[in-house]
Amino acid sequence: MSCIFCQIAAGEIASDIVYRDEQVVAFRDLNPQAPTHILIIPIQHIENLADASEEQAALLGHCNLVAAQIAQAEGIAEDGYRLVTNVGAAAGQSVDHLHFHLLGGRRMHWPPG
Ligand code: AMP
Repeated sequence: MSCIFCQIAAGEIASDIVYRDEQVVAFRDLNPQAPTHILIIPIQHIENLADASEEQAALLGHCNLVAAQIAQAEGIAEDGYRLVTNVGAAAGQSVDHLHFHLLGGRRMHWPPG
């Protein structure tokens, strides 16, 4: 298994896991871009959003709802937070396993870089 996020989901690589259920794992980003920076991933390997299918619609929705739940638990929901997924090289995707960045704890800027 060469995918680093599959290895994290399988517990083969250490990470700071904040949430886990039968479909989703969430862990703190190794190189945080905000005071709170958590990655939410499906356990099932999907390369990115462009690679997801209609059958995975409920899983994708679940990832988003888990992000909102974690934002509450982390205390960033009241001030606001950002949930973003990078798709492909031009967007800066560096790990080819679908992940949602949950960022909060500071003022976010728009447009993003
Ligand atoms: P992206 O550039 O959208 O593909 O995001 C990949 C993210 O994964 C980056 O923010 C990295 O800092 C993060 N990352 C890479 N390896 C690890 C790891 N082993 N544990 C936690 N976060 C990681």
